[in-house]
Amino acid sequence: MSNVKHIQDSTQFAAQVLTQDGLYVVDFYADWCGPCKIMLPVYENLSIDVDLTTKATFIKINRDENIDLIEKFGFIIPTIPRFFTFRIQEGQLAILEDLGGTQSKTSLKNKILTHHEVSPNRLIQKTPNHKPRVAIIGSGPSGLTAGIYAARASLDVTIFTGFQPGGQLTTTTEIENFPGAWDKDTKEGMMGPDLMALIQQQAEHFGATTQISEIKSITIDSNHNHDIANKPVFNLTDGYGETHQFDSVIIASGATAKYIGLPGEEKWIGKGYHSCATCDGFFYRDKVIAVVGGGDSAMEESNFLTKFASKVYLIHRREEFRASKIMLDRARNNPKIEFVLNQQPIEFLTKDDGKKFAGVKMQNTKDQSISELELDGLFVAIGHIPNTGFAKDLLSMDEAGYLIPRSKQISELLLQKESVENINQEDFMKYRTMSQIPGIFIAGDVEDTVYRQAITAAGDGCRAAIDCEKWLESL
Ligand code: NAP
Repeated sequence: MSNVKHIQDSTQFAAQVLTQDGLYVVDFYADWCGPCKIMLPVYENLSIDVDLTTKATFIKINRDENIDLIEKFGFIIPTIPRFFTFRIQEGQLAILEDLGGTQSKTSLKNKILTHHEVSPNRLIQKTPNHKPRVAIIGSGPSGLTAGIYAARASLDVTIFTGFQPGGQLTTTTEIENFPGAWDKDTKEGMMGPDLMALIQQQAEHFGATTQISEIKSITIDSNHNHDIANKPVFNLTDGYGETHQFDSVIIASGATAKYIGLPGEEKWIGKGYHSCATCDGFFYRDKVIAVVGGGDSAMEESNFLTKFASKVYLIHRREEFRASKIMLDRARNNPKIEFVLNQQPIEFLTKDDGKKFAGVKMQNTKDQSISELELDGLFVAIGHIPNTGFAKDLLSMDEAGYLIPRSKQISELLLQKESVENINQEDFMKYRTMSQIPGIFIAGDVEDTVYRQAITAAGDGCRAAIDCEKWLESL
C-alpha cells in the first residue's frame, strides 16, 4: 500500500497539484534508473508513515517525460532519484528544499520533518545575535562531526552537504569498525547511510543547519578586518549561484571514487561499468561480474556483490594487497569470489555491434600477455580523488589534489632543515588543522592520504572545529 500519486504530465500537475494548497514531497525518477527502483519502496513506505501523511502529499514524476514542467518551476535535478519538498499556496509553487538522492528511509523522513517549514528563500538568514558564522563544506564523518562540535560551541553553523549528503559512507553497506555503532545482540555494525543520518541529526539537534548544495568557489572579502559582528570574511558561492558570507570555513569535502581510465569509459558508466556496489549491485542478480582493486573497498564490495551475483572475479594488478587481513580473508573464504591476480583491465569487450557491455580485456602485469574475461558487469574499487577543485586557486595542495594544512608544510620544511623564518609559525602550529589562510580549516579525506577511515575523519572534524572555535575567539 502507498499514498504516492503518480503525476503523468503538466495537465495533471495543474489539475491535481497546483489547485491543492499544502506541502508536497516529490520523487523525480526515470524508468531506466536503478537507484530510483531501490528508493521507490522506501518512498512509498514513507507515504504511509503517520508522522508524515498528515503533513505532506507524496507525488512522483518521471523526470525524462516532464523536462518542461521541471524547468518551469525551477527544480534543479543533478542526479536521480531526487527528492524535494515544495509548498503550493494559492496556485503558486515555492520549492522548500532539495532533499538529495539515494539515502536511508530515516534520513529522508527526518529531512522532510525538519525542512518542511523552511523559508522558500534559499538564502541563509543572518543570526540576529551575531554569533560567528562557520561554513562546513562536506557532510561525511568529518564535516558532520565538525558540525556537532562547532554548534555545541555556540557558533552559527551551516553544513553544505554536497549532492551526496553523508558522503562516501552512504555508498557503503555495514560499518563494522566505527566504535559504538554496533549492535551487541546481533553483533552487526550499523549501515553506512543510517550511521550518517544519525550523525546529521545529532549535528542538527545542536543547532547546525544543513543545506543541500555544492560550494563552487571561495573568495576572501578584501574589506575584511576580522570584525566578527559585521564584516564576514569568506564568500562561498554555491551551485545555485548564490553567495553566502562566513567568518570561518571548515573544508571537509572528502573524496570521490576513481575510475580506471579505459578507452570510452564514460559511455559505459552505469551500463555495465560501476563504482558503487551498494547502488548498482541490485541489477546483477545471478550474473557474473568482476571487481577491480586490492584494497579494503574491493574486498568489501566483492563480498557484498556475492549477495546478488552468481560469481564475482576480483581483479588485482599485483599479488600483494593493501586490504586488511580480516577483509582479505573474508573475500578469500567466500566461495563465490575468484581472485584474478597480476591483471590490469585495458579495454572493454562489447557485443551487438558495440552496443552492449560484454567484459574486459586484460594485460598480465608480469608477462604482458593479453586475455579476455566475459562479464555482465565490472565494478571498480580503486581509491578516490579528493574533492578540492573549488579551492584550487586558493589553497596549497599536493599533486593528487589533497589539501595540506600549514602545520604539515612547516613540519616538512623543518624536517628538510629549510628556513621558515618569515612565517608566523606559532599561529599555524597552534591551529594544526588551519590551511595557509587563517580562518580556513581542513578536515578528513581531503587531506588524509594515509588513514582515510570514518573514525579518523570524524576525529579530524573534531580537531578542525576546536581550532576554528579557538581561532574565532582569539580575534
Ligand atoms: P586503496 O587502499 O588505496 O586501494 C586501492 C586499490 O586499487 C589498490 O589495491 C590499487 O592497487 C588498486 N588500483 C589503484 N589504481 C588502479 C588502477 N588504475 N587500475 C587497477 N588497480 C588500481 O583504496 P580503498 O580500498 O578504497 O581504501 C581506502 C581507505 O579506506 C583505506 O584506508 C581502507 O582501509 C579504507 N576502507 C575501509 C573499509 C572498512 O574498514 N570497512 C572499507 C573500505 C575502505 P595497488 O595496490 O597495486 O596500488
